[in-house]
Amino acid sequence: MTMNADYLEGLMEGFVAYDGNWRMTYMNAAAERILGRKRREVLGKTWHQAFPHAVSNPVDQMYQRVMAKRAAERMEMFYEHYGRWFEISAAPVQSGGVAVYFRDISDRVRALEALREADRRKDEFLATLGHELRNPLAPIRNGLQLLAMAQPGSEVAEEARAMMERQMRHLVRLVDDLLEVSRISTGKLELRREPVELTGLVAAAIETSRPLIDGEGHELRVELPAEVVTLDADAVRIAQVLANVLNNAAKYTPRGGRIELVARIEPPGVAIRVRDNGIGIAPEVRPRLFQRFAQVGSAPHAYGGLGIGLSIARNLVELHGGTIEAQSDGTGKGSVFIVRLPVLSVRPRIAVRPDNARPPVRGHSPKADSPRRW
Ligand code: ADP
Repeated sequence: MTMNADYLEGLMEGFVAYDGNWRMTYMNAAAERILGRKRREVLGKTWHQAFPHAVSNPVDQMYQRVMAKRAAERMEMFYEHYGRWFEISAAPVQSGGVAVYFRDISDRVRALEALREADRRKDEFLATLGHELRNPLAPIRNGLQLLAMAQPGSEVAEEARAMMERQMRHLVRLVDDLLEVSRISTGKLELRREPVELTGLVAAAIETSRPLIDGEGHELRVELPAEVVTLDADAVRIAQVLANVLNNAAKYTPRGGRIELVARIEPPGVAIRVRDNGIGIAPEVRPRLFQRFAQVGSAPHAYGGLGIGLSIARNLVELHGGTIEAQSDGTGKGSVFIVRLPVLSVRPRIAVRPDNARPPVRGHSPKADSPRRW
């Protein structure tokens, strides 16, 4: 053993050897590090004396087989005692003992598990996607049948057409979301940034979400800073982020709820809080909310959706140098989503003079007193 020890000393893998009577004859530096033991403590002791925790565990059983059958074996296992995953190879040596080579594979195992989990979520996502894409198709097919039978221009025909248009818009939105995800994950998304006013962004988002909010009979309160807040942002994307958060507030709140959008200057930027008094978020699922394909909550599918909205939102906000986070006191306690974005400038709004001799101000309506309401 000693003659070859030099070769084994510098290995990153652990290496130990036992003679035919189970006495440890060699241990390299990596084995000392991985097992947290010193050679002087264990050399010369038997395998069971040196490592009493191992008696009759799977590693012990493998060593016993190798010693008895004189045939090499290898295993991968989570070693409770060390709290790590190990790959362990044991082989008979000519002099009658057993040589063992092992390494810590915890990082690899964890990476594999993460991949498997991502793969599983992707499968789940595909199933949801199939469902969500198919849902609008049945009514559209019915609509076509109705149109074929109905008197052109009749009320029935008009209703069918309006319904098909609604379903079509829904389909287009789903497909747009999908394309957005792939643009983001391939890094092909380009922001069209320009100075934009916060009020305009919020107004656009509310316009998008209004039908859902009203449809569910929710009350919406909006509060914006008194100042003119200008951001360097892609107006379409940021409005999309805010609309997504507002839509979620509407979706995940029982009918007749209260939704609130409050924007405040919180240097160095602006914080936009969207609060609802809906189903809330359990603490254990909060970290998963912004992951792609994540649908959490009690009965997520009942509300429709692909579980990609918040992951898109986070990507878009981060591309703007901002952050998005969720807060909730738990299930049934409502939620708050906070979007923080950097601002270009904050200027006082110029007061409206009674004689209407007001200097021109770009980008907001003359009636824009604050706090503004929609
Ligand atoms: P989707 O709404 O399509 O499922 P999102 O990415 O927008 O996907 O949201 C992910 C999940 O986060 C939702 O499925 C839901 O469980 C949860 N969630 C989002 N917003 C809220 C909210 N305001 N209240 C409670 N849960 C929410």
